[in-house]
Amino acid sequence: MRKHYLATPGPSPVPEQVRLALAEEMIHHRTADFRSYTASATANLKKVFKTENDVLIMAASGTGAMEAAVSNVISRGDRAITVEGGKFGERWTELVMAFGGEPLVMEVEWGRGPDPAEIGAILKANPDVKAVYATLCETSTATVQDIEAIGKIVAHTEAILVVDGISGAGAVDIRTDEWGVDILCVGSQKALMMPPGLAFVTVSDKAWGRIDKADRAAYYFDLKKARKNAAKNDTPYTPAVSMIRALARATDMIVKEGVEEVLSRHSKLARATRAAVEAIGLEIFSKAPADAVTAVLMPEGLDAEKLRKLMDERFGVSVAGGQAHLKGRVIRIAHMGYMGALDIVAVVAALEMALALMGFDFKAGSGLAACQKVLVDE
Ligand SMILES: *Cc1c(COP(=O)(O)O)cnc(C)c1O
Repeated sequence: MRKHYLATPGPSPVPEQVRLALAEEMIHHRTADFRSYTASATANLKKVFKTENDVLIMAASGTGAMEAAVSNVISRGDRAITVEGGKFGERWTELVMAFGGEPLVMEVEWGRGPDPAEIGAILKANPDVKAVYATLCETSTATVQDIEAIGKIVAHTEAILVVDGISGAGAVDIRTDEWGVDILCVGSQKALMMPPGLAFVTVSDKAWGRIDKADRAAYYFDLKKARKNAAKNDTPYTPAVSMIRALARATDMIVKEGVEEVLSRHSKLARATRAAVEAIGLEIFSKAPADAVTAVLMPEGLDAEKLRKLMDERFGVSVAGGQAHLKGRVIRIAHMGYMGALDIVAVVAALEMALALMGFDFKAGSGLAACQKVLVDE
């Protein structure tokens, strides 16, 4: 027997009630029953995303939502600012290019958030920019971006603000309407306690205005068609019936716990993880750490991949490694979605035991003590 603890930034753990919902009998989708699941999932998602805008549900992984936010918005030759600073920021650049747009790439040091004033300066110098593409939680570096500040700047321009909130939404506060996020993209398998396979986009009136003007190269991800059907709690094509039924269940759990309570649970788990890492004598990679995931920088001579393998094989704890140039240099511990205090205690215990096996010099139990102090005190 090997008990498994999933602490990766997607997929993340799925509660039993949600897994059981996936096993229920198949129903047809053009029915009142199915529409009631879509209606309740959509209403719940609006609460999580803090929006009155349209929320559209698509059968895709998170990148499908990102693709829809480019293919419906950007016409050939259109210019858009893409904020990089990690793997997922780079995906915005690649998508804009894939649909014939011209990205104005804003490079940001990995592990730091962008300077909103710099985005303002680029917008001022390039008034033809159609959209700004940013990321709420850059999962590859476990870093948050100041979407509120970026939103204030973009709101005064013709451009729309598109945010990849795929790993952030549900773990990190996102106030879609208040902060002026015109399109928010989210995936099911990060903080929303669901398996991979669904993608969500919210669309503001300003964004619909831009979409109306765009020469759209979209068919399956045509947002206008999706909006027309969503008005009847329907989808243009066969929806992922079981997934949407499970989504209604998962988001009911979030709403029942309370969106603010869910956010403070994530914040506490994140603080407990960071306290443990520092007490052990390791370094947090990000200068603006996100509450969804923590990237831990390995000191010289400590191989992140070996550490990860030990945590997994010996103790059943899965954490993620680094991407691109961070491979082998960081491990990423996710604390998103269906996670509680003792899940983090288990992860920290496995981290300590694996470090001890690798001969790393630290005081055994120091991470656990620091982690528990946060969980008890704050
Ligand atoms: C996971 C993730 C994605 C990619 O989502 P897929 O579901 O793999 O398509 C995009 N952006 C961020 C920030 C993510 O964390």
